[in-house]
Amino acid sequence: MGKLIAANWKEHPKTEEEARALFRAVARIKRPRGAEVLVCPPFIYLEGIAAQYGIMETDRRRGLALGAQDVFWAEEGAFTGEIGPKMLRSLGARYVIVGHSERRRFEGETDAAINKKIALALRDGLNVILCVGEGPAVRRKGAAAAKAFVRGQLAKDLRKISLEKKVVIIAYEPIWAIGTGRNDRPEDAREMARFVKSWLVAHKRIARPKFLYGGSVNGANAADYVQLKEVDGALVGGASLKAEEFGRIVNAVKK
Ligand code: PEP
Repeated sequence: MGKLIAANWKEHPKTEEEARALFRAVARIKRPRGAEVLVCPPFIYLEGIAAQYGIMETDRRRGLALGAQDVFWAEEGAFTGEIGPKMLRSLGARYVIVGHSERRRFEGETDAAINKKIALALRDGLNVILCVGEGPAVRRKGAAAAKAFVRGQLAKDLRKISLEKKVVIIAYEPIWAIGTGRNDRPEDAREMARFVKSWLVAHKRIARPKFLYGGSVNGANAADYVQLKEVDGALVGGASLKAEEFGRIVNAVKK
């Protein structure tokens, strides 16, 4: 993996037609060498996009992949409304975002549930993007408090999960930076990247841990993050809904 620029469309856009148009524009973005683009649309649009663009979950060469924004912790069963990892793979998804702060907040998603989701998603062959990050009250206490909070999430969310030969990418998304226009200072994101990576090496024996920054990334500030050697890409919300702006972020990978 070079630098991964991941689009989290959240609950957008309202219609499939708009989703296809947005994806078409994203697929046209000329990706610089070393940049991989991942699009995570709402579940409902995955199949149509994958079919139209011939995107397969096994396709590692084209630098354009699909992912989902969540997954359930059981493969199938009496779980109304839920979607399992094999279902996602069969629709073309190669990645899944787990533990986004909006799901923790609005769906009451717990670290225990996140832990089960990650375990099953990995077992069923999805690459996982695990979102972690502190809220404003913790951040106000300083960098050490933010690190302690993130360490707690990593320990709980990855508890008893072996990451040997598995892909778990950590997306550090401080809650106070999401959708607020108040992006983290690049030097603070770099410090968090070093911290998270050394935790993963020490506790999960990952040889090459991966770290994304997320939180108000846009075309003007993306280079400040994605060009850092400690940062392996970005997770982008709002700015991923405008193909031109997203294109600027993808191109920020180029030095
Ligand atoms: C996100 O929610 O994953 C995110 C990073 O949002 P935004 O880019 O809008 O801050």
